[in-house]
Amino acid sequence: MDEKFSILRKKIKNSQSLVMNAIIKDHQSTICILCGTNEDITKEHVLPQWSFDGNPEKFLVNTLNNQPASYIKTTVLACKTCNSDLLGAFEDYLKRLFLEKDGDQFNTKDVDCVIWWLQYIAFKLQLKDLRSNFLRYKGKDFIPYLSTIPIAMFWGDIDTTPFKVFNIIRRSRRSLFTKKKQQKFNSLLVFSTKNESFYFFHKVDEFIFIELPQVKKAFFLFLTKEFSEHKMAHAECMEIIKKVYED
Ligand SMILES: [Zn+2]
Repeated sequence: MDEKFSILRKKIKNSQSLVMNAIIKDHQSTICILCGTNEDITKEHVLPQWSFDGNPEKFLVNTLNNQPASYIKTTVLACKTCNSDLLGAFEDYLKRLFLEKDGDQFNTKDVDCVIWWLQYIAFKLQLKDLRSNFLRYKGKDFIPYLSTIPIAMFWGDIDTTPFKVFNIIRRSRRSLFTKKKQQKFNSLLVFSTKNESFYFFHKVDEFIFIELPQVKKAFFLFLTKEFSEHKMAHAECMEIIKKVYED
């Protein structure tokens, strides 16, 4: 796994400007988001099917425009090599890790991999928002002049410019090949869970949460914020989770 994982990271690094330029020029461009090739393009699930048990009734609702999409249909593009060979090996490793170890037994490499996985999901969600049209605002009336604008342009409050959006995506993709500082490890929280159903929520550029009942674990990651101590991240994370469950 180690070798394939480093090949994957290298591919992402070497194609950073190629992929970013292509996506900015044409949001629908049919290239591999990991290595930039346009050959053997396949669909890569934003959330791996094993995480939500391939259940077609599990939906992701985009809170910016309230448009639902089933996870099974929520995909991005990746070439066959990156998708089946490299990512496949990486996810097999993760699945084994989740089954075999408790969160407090994770070593540095394990934590590094889990953070990478969550960052990658966050990046794919950003691309999804760039490729999908806004359509309508929170279930209200259809607004023709807004309808064809990518959802990503609504990430911020009122001042989201395309420049800002592309910078967020660029930074997010860069996080997939840069070496993490030790402090970043404080941004990941691993919980044991007895909940029986899959659960997922995220906020662009801020945090991501995924609960996997089949391995009795849940993960929360602060995507950009860093903490000098783990317990500070934990306290802030609990506040966010509490708020989400209350709504
Ligand atoms: Zn590829």
